[in-house]
Amino acid sequence: MNKSSESISYSTIHTSPDHEDDKFHEECGVVGVWTTQDAASLTALGLHALQHRGQEATGIVTYDGNFHIHRGLGLVGEVFADPQVIAKLPGGIAIGHNRYATTGATQLRNVQPLYGDFEFGGFAVAHNGNLTNAQLLRQSLVRRGCLFQSSTDSEVFIHLIAISLYSNVIDRFIDALKQVQGAYSLVALSKDMLIAARDPLGVRPLILGKLNQNKEKECWVVASETCALSSMGAEFVRDIEPGEVIIINDEGIRSIKPFHNISHRFCIFEYVYFARPDSIIENKSVYIARQKIGAELALENPVEADIVVPVPDSGVPAALGYAKASNIPFELGIIRSHYIGRTFIEPTDQIRNLGVKLKHSTNGSILKDKRVILIDDSIVRGTTSKKIVEMVRAAGAAEVHLRIASPPTRFSCYYGIDTPSKEKLLAHTHDIDEMCKLIGADSLGFISCNGLYKALEEKERNNEKPQYCDACFTGDYPIQLTDHDMNLTQNK
Ligand code: SF4
Repeated sequence: MNKSSESISYSTIHTSPDHEDDKFHEECGVVGVWTTQDAASLTALGLHALQHRGQEATGIVTYDGNFHIHRGLGLVGEVFADPQVIAKLPGGIAIGHNRYATTGATQLRNVQPLYGDFEFGGFAVAHNGNLTNAQLLRQSLVRRGCLFQSSTDSEVFIHLIAISLYSNVIDRFIDALKQVQGAYSLVALSKDMLIAARDPLGVRPLILGKLNQNKEKECWVVASETCALSSMGAEFVRDIEPGEVIIINDEGIRSIKPFHNISHRFCIFEYVYFARPDSIIENKSVYIARQKIGAELALENPVEADIVVPVPDSGVPAALGYAKASNIPFELGIIRSHYIGRTFIEPTDQIRNLGVKLKHSTNGSILKDKRVILIDDSIVRGTTSKKIVEMVRAAGAAEVHLRIASPPTRFSCYYGIDTPSKEKLLAHTHDIDEMCKLIGADSLGFISCNGLYKALEEKERNNEKPQYCDACFTGDYPIQLTDHDMNLTQNK
């Protein structure tokens, strides 16, 4: 049996303004490295580039004959700031994970990668996504004597692998995948292989890259998004396909497709907001996709105005697209502070409103007496939009027309995005006119669902066989919501 060593670090931070702002939030990012001297450092660099996918906790597991684990609460730059921490993670292979907590304080026991000692040796797994039958599986596993260490849905992978009747690691891993429902992009590490896998619909992203540093030996990386590659000095090879399992070991790299071929349903919201704009997903630049969304929004929702102003940072590419398409000047009428740091504030509505003031300030000389088109990526509760419209008016704007680069978010996500219950989504309980009144804008317009598909180079949404997951806009959930339907999870 291999030995394992684990170190932990705690930060005193429990929530951040980014965590509590009025947005949907990506819940996780993952990285895997095979095999190079600096696997832990490279993994930390990759995780740093994926910080937007999870800011509450992070962890790395490496292997050099023994497994080494370091997990902590906080940002990558905090948890891995001390060179001694990386020095205690030797080995040429590694996986890492960034986590975004859905509720309350993040608990260390929920921080990934998760690790278990099995009869075949140690095994670590890191998961981006959310399983929709995790509670049902958990109940059955507990009845069979499995002792869960955490409250995260991802732990079912560890127990399903442990009790699998197959003898080798890959068969056990695939056996586990075949029992789970939901969205997953996974990286896993055993003593002699790195595994990466994407759920059959490919809801969350996962890509394969190659390191250039070693001419004699092939060194591979796996990451949630391509933006991690340049930080790691790696080149993009390809997207890992939906339903694909990739195995990397001393014999090379191979691909297995253990599932029946079904229509893919990548998360359309990754293009709107979650992914970093410099990432390329399915051969599409996220930045250019956002500009096209802005252009389509301008076509569908024109209005006479003097300037187009983004709500920074996420509204910027769509605002550029809107400005170009409408021939109205783009101006930075709102400035976002990047230095407000993290705070201990509790997530009350009152504090959320205060957070907006801390994060954004108006550029009065640009806004005064202007008819302003404000561009944002989405409206969740509406608290941020209301505050920003008030701020722009207070800065002297003559009119404020709010345009949103996604359709109204009427439904919760169950596939790895932190969303409020649907009753708290402004668009679930109000029509567009009511929303406009509540927010206090002169007019409000959203891109249509078909417009969003058009911006992504589809003719329109194929209602028989939709090309993307768009359930938070349409309520058309592509993967069964078993726990939810059985009332085994908090209702959304
Ligand atoms: S429900 Fe929305 S956020 Fe969730 S995976 Fe589908 S498109 Fe993405």
